[in-house]
This record gives sequence, structure tokens and C-alpha cells, in this order.
Amino acid sequence: MKSNMEQDILKVLYTEEEIKARVQEMGDALYDQFHDKNPLFVGVLNGCFIFMADLVRASQMKSQLEFIGLSSYQNGVKSSGVVQITRDLQSDIHGRNLIVVEDILDSGNTLAFLKKYLLAKGAATVNIVTLLDKPSRREKAITADIAGFIVPDEFVVGYGLDYGQQYRNIPYIGVLKPQVYERNEE
Ligand code: 5GP
Ligand code: MG
Repeated sequence: MKSNMEQDILKVLYTEEEIKARVQEMGDALYDQFHDKNPLFVGVLNGCFIFMADLVRASQMKSQLEFIGLSSYQNGVKSSGVVQITRDLQSDIHGRNLIVVEDILDSGNTLAFLKKYLLAKGAATVNIVTLLDKPSRREKAITADIAGFIVPDEFVVGYGLDYGQQYRNIPYIGVLKPQVYERNEE
């Protein structure tokens, strides 16, 4: 396959096949827990878009879906700590059982903010599903109900995760070469 992005990847952490197998396990677990609850998936844009598409198909249960846009990064590699809603929910979540779908749980700032926000809007329950979890960098006391993979403290891209809105379309998850962001942050 042709790619002009591969040259910026230091190493592959999870292959397409490994991701697919793990996402299916996560979908099965969600089915067992939620199939009789008509849950509402709430995807956190933009990072969730590929994971969410695969996860809802892996879960094969009657459910609905929604998106919320949140931003705590200013196109860099570190969280600013201040979370902004860039696109709000479009439906009423009062009394609903929510499954939040996030690409990566890092400092915890984003999901700590979002969980509080969703409960304040009247959600009955808020479950958090994250594809990746980087527990070494946590600043807020928040844990995922389901985490796909525990990752080391390295900046990863692919399968929806970006650097400066690029690399989201890489089909696997890889570590970005530090030169790529160092050359932009000088
Ligand atoms: P937190 O608020 O938990 O620090 O960060 C959550 C958000 O930071 C994620 O939704 C993701 O957009 C971004 N993020 C954190 N770590 C990484 C990483 O290693 N790679 C990429 N591409 N984004 C990350
Ligand atoms: Mg994100």
C-alpha cells in the first residue's frame, strides 16, 4: 500500500488485526452489559470517529449515537488543561444510559470534565470506553470502565488519533517520530 505518512512513524504499537480483535472483545462486553438498556453512544470528536464506527458495529445491539466536540489541545502534543466544547450534543440525554467513546485517556482533564457535564445534564449513567489508556500521565481521578490497550508515555497516532489533524487515517496505532513535532515546536 502507498503511504507518505509511514516515514514519520517510529514504531507500530498495535496492528490492524490486534485492534480489530480487541475492539470485538469490547463490543461483546458492551452487548452483555447494555443490550437491554437502549444505550446512547457519545463519541468525543474528532479522535473517536474510526474507533466509534468499529465499536458500534462490534456491539450489534439496539442503540443510538451522538457526538460531542471537545478540545483541550491547541494542536500540540500536551493538554492545555482547559476543556472547551467545540460542538455540543444535539439530543436530550436526560435519563439515558451513556457510553462515552474516547480515543485516549491521558491527563484525564477531558473525561473528568465530560463526565461531570453529562451527569449535570441528567444522564442516568455514564460509562467510559477508551481505546487507549495512558495511566502514567493522569492528573484527574478518573478511570475508564473499559480500556482497549494500556499504552506507555509516548505520543501515538493513527486509527483516529492525530498530530495537528494529520495521521488520523493510518490504519494501525504507532508512535510518532519525535522529530516530527520537535520541528514544529521550536
Ligand atoms: P486528556 O484530557 O486525558 O489529557 O487527553 C485526552 C485527549 O488528548 C485525547 O482525546 C486526545 O485527543 C489527546 N491525546 C492525549 N494523548 C495523546 C497521544 O498520545 N496522541 C494523540 N494523538 N492524542 C493524544
Ligand atoms: Mg480526543
